[in-house]
Order: sequence, then structure tokens, then C-alpha cells
Amino acid sequence: MIDKDKIYLDSIERLTNDKTVRNVINKINERSNIGIIKYGTTLEQNKSDIQYWLKHLQEELFDAALYIQKLIESETSKTCENCKVQMNETCNFCSNCGKEI
Ligand SMILES: [Zn+2]
Repeated sequence: MIDKDKIYLDSIERLTNDKTVRNVINKINERSNIGIIKYGTTLEQNKSDIQYWLKHLQEELFDAALYIQKLIESETSKTCENCKVQMNETCNFCSNCGKEI
């Protein structure tokens, strides 16, 4: 019996020695398979017009902007040791109790 997953993984390993690139290829392939099920067509077969693709691209970029903002806010988030209030501020003093954070 042929192991299709093994053949697929072997073919990806022949393409590149870079594991990070292989991980991206695998994720793109997984998304493609999900898209085929969701939309009932491959990208190659999908003959939608340019407005359709621009709308989808814009929606993806909106999502990306939100994810970036979420990460920026989580990176700048500080918790006051005194009152345990969490805040998204670049200031070094708690806006609740005034203590240095
Ligand atoms: Zn505080």
C-alpha cells in the first residue's frame, strides 16, 4: 500500500533542506485543502474576477492589521505590582495608583 503522506513529505524534503520553508509549504497546502472543501474549487479553477480577489485580499489585510495591533498591545501591556491593574501604556507609572511600574 502506498503511503501518500510519506510520498508528499519526501517530495517536500527534496524541494528544500530548510525546515522553516517546509513548514510554510505544508501550511499553505493545508490551507489549500481547506479552501477546496470550503469553496468547492481550487484556486486554479476559480475564475472569479479581479474585484473578488481584491476584496478577499483587503479582508485578509484587515485581519493582519488587527493581529498586529493585538500583538503590539500585548507587548506594551504592563501590570502594576501594587494594584494588579493591567494597562496598555508606554508610561512607567500606573495610571490607577500612580506607582512606578
Ligand atoms: Zn497601580
